[in-house]
Amino acid sequence: MLRAEGEPDRISPHASHGRWVNWEGRSRMADLLNEKRDALLNLSHELGRDDRGWSILGEGNASVRIDSESFLVKASGCNLGTLRKDQVVQCKSLQLLSLLDRRSATDQEVNSALLASRVSGDARKPSVEALFHAYLLSLPGVTFVGHTHAPSVNGILCSTRAREFAVKRIMPDEVVCCGSESVYIPYTDPGLKLAQVIRKATESFHKRMKLLPRVIVLQNHGIITLGGTIEAVLAAMMMAEKSAAIWLKAASIGGPVFMSKEQVNRIASRPDEVVRKRAMNI
Ligand SMILES: [Zn+2]
Repeated sequence: MLRAEGEPDRISPHASHGRWVNWEGRSRMADLLNEKRDALLNLSHELGRDDRGWSILGEGNASVRIDSESFLVKASGCNLGTLRKDQVVQCKSLQLLSLLDRRSATDQEVNSALLASRVSGDARKPSVEALFHAYLLSLPGVTFVGHTHAPSVNGILCSTRAREFAVKRIMPDEVVCCGSESVYIPYTDPGLKLAQVIRKATESFHKRMKLLPRVIVLQNHGIITLGGTIEAVLAAMMMAEKSAAIWLKAASIGGPVFMSKEQVNRIASRPDEVVRKRAMNI
């Protein structure tokens, strides 16, 4: 089983030093929490940069896995670009994951479950999208998740050609940073329903492609990128937005010319691209 980056080793109690071991365990957990919170603030500030315009006001959210039991996510309604420590909430993963197995739940029930998932009762309410963050962070190798309403991406996702943006590629670097294909999610009500649809579509993508997606696009809504590092989440977001901007320009002069399946597969499997990805930490 994969262990998340930075997850502490299990500390076994020792008869004569039990108190010391417990103290050390708590101190290591506090260090880990601080380290993860700082990483999440870094990612959030990048995703919410004014000059990028990917997320304005309370749009978008971001999360980081702490261990198999909990994760940190942006609190509801906060601004990504200026996110502060007190606007980050630690949530219990299993509590939210079990909600995804329910056939349906009222808005009030989802609201109560979000509040109950907080590790600290003093924390703010987590974003309603904490539900899909809980699922995506449970996937092997996923430590960070980012979600924005990037304008060029949404220019396509709010058009009749949204699905094409998910399944086709126009440039080699789009393949390198965003993968050979993205998961496509037709418009779905945000919250529990959206998290359930994302889980189902990601599972069938994994079954068909034999790998996990780097990018999930949501019709009439926005984009999610995921990965093992902050760099991977940002690279996929940046390249998806750049590709979308080029897509829109190409659409104004006759339409984009897509790479063939063979061309996409060749880029995805080239050894020099694997080395480049490692060098970029993505
Ligand atoms: Zn959104």
